[in-house]
Amino acid sequence: MADELLPLLGHHLDAVDSESEDEDEESIDVDTDNDEDEQQQLQQQQQQAASGRSRPSARPLFNTTFDKSLPVAHSYLGEDLEEVRGRTIHDDEACISLPIITLPSVILVPGQTIPLHLFQSHTVAMMKNLLDKDKTFGVITTSYSPDDDSSSMASIGTTAEIYSIKDETDNQSGIATVKMKARGRQRFRVIEFHRQTHGILMAKVHILPEKIQSDYLDGARPQSHYKFCCCPTQQDLVVKTAVDRNGEILRKVNMLTNKQLDKFTSSYFTQWPPWVYKMYDTENLIQRIRKELCSWNESLKTEVSGMDPVDFSYWVLQNLPLDDSRRIHLLSIDSAVQRLRCELSIMQNCSILCCRKCDLEVANKSDVFSMSLEGPLAAYVNPGGHVHETVTVHKAKGLTLIGQPSTENSWFPGYAWTIINCSQCGSHMGWRFTAAKRKLSPQKFWGLCRASLIPGINDTDVLVL
Ligand SMILES: [Zn+2]
Repeated sequence: MADELLPLLGHHLDAVDSESEDEDEESIDVDTDNDEDEQQQLQQQQQQAASGRSRPSARPLFNTTFDKSLPVAHSYLGEDLEEVRGRTIHDDEACISLPIITLPSVILVPGQTIPLHLFQSHTVAMMKNLLDKDKTFGVITTSYSPDDDSSSMASIGTTAEIYSIKDETDNQSGIATVKMKARGRQRFRVIEFHRQTHGILMAKVHILPEKIQSDYLDGARPQSHYKFCCCPTQQDLVVKTAVDRNGEILRKVNMLTNKQLDKFTSSYFTQWPPWVYKMYDTENLIQRIRKELCSWNESLKTEVSGMDPVDFSYWVLQNLPLDDSRRIHLLSIDSAVQRLRCELSIMQNCSILCCRKCDLEVANKSDVFSMSLEGPLAAYVNPGGHVHETVTVHKAKGLTLIGQPSTENSWFPGYAWTIINCSQCGSHMGWRFTAAKRKLSPQKFWGLCRASLIPGINDTDVLVL
């Protein structure tokens, strides 16, 4: 098996005391339908639904005792990485020259953390040099085409800024390596590539702008309506006092629409009805996406709060388990409003996750949950330097366990990993993680590689931008 398919090489765990499953078998067909935890949670869900306290379609909150800050720390890289400070922000539309690293099936998103373990001498030297400069390099994904045995680089990428690093040299071999963590910053489009004589790939890139749409109703809104552009929780109070105080126009509009006044009421002074403006309203889009996430899984409700619309749109993009082409398409959109609209459309139409190679269903979107503060999907690197974007799910099916569990270099401290393949086509799909201690909750979950998945989407319903 190719090295990249054995991501977490290490010693086998002698015993995992969390379960009494027969782990000695080389290959076990995973069937979680009879899972005891799931049954208990289902009973709780039904009781809550019966008492009217919960939406029956959403999974209940799981009692997770795992410290979700641990995966963000990427402690498997070592505890002695040196923090580096400083931040460089390039002007929108600027044309700059960047050193580039290419990563297969990894599409970095602004705000996303990327751990790296680099071995190639010219790349290691490049990273060391960057520490004395702006600590910024570009990350571009590559895709492999089995038809003509070739790989191609995407034309869209994201700058990454180093914030933690350690370089080390093996005493015996003399090989220098570097372990580091970087964070995605700004999107760019490649104008041209060129390779330097010492092997470093450079690119002239155009920094893509983040276009902020103005309030579409700004020109039509009377001054007295601006008080309705407030937090929805304060809306009722504002409307009551505004109706009491305001004059002719508000009373006329109220009679005309026979509806409560809000920030969209002034659309009646234009040729478009309120629902048109709501479709492009950032606040409305964020609320709808949050509602959609909660309908998948109530644990996702706590993951998103206090972000501005641009950061929120990138958080959603980072955490949706999309295939490369959809992820790149979303990354190429310059407006947060359009990005959010496209994400919402995909979320509403996606119901399952399938094996990318054979389309076998392996998980449902309601099984997606977070084991990390960054959300359900994050990038992790294995000892061989391969970066895997991995989405965590409570439950999976159609998978086969390969080998025995091991805790070495685990991305989730306290959990042992076991390789999982698609039971139909044999493709590598990710890992099953099992708790090494009984007190840890959840006792098990699955980490599925984004690169191995394709969302079950009705393409005809997806918004085309
Ligand atoms: Zn398959």
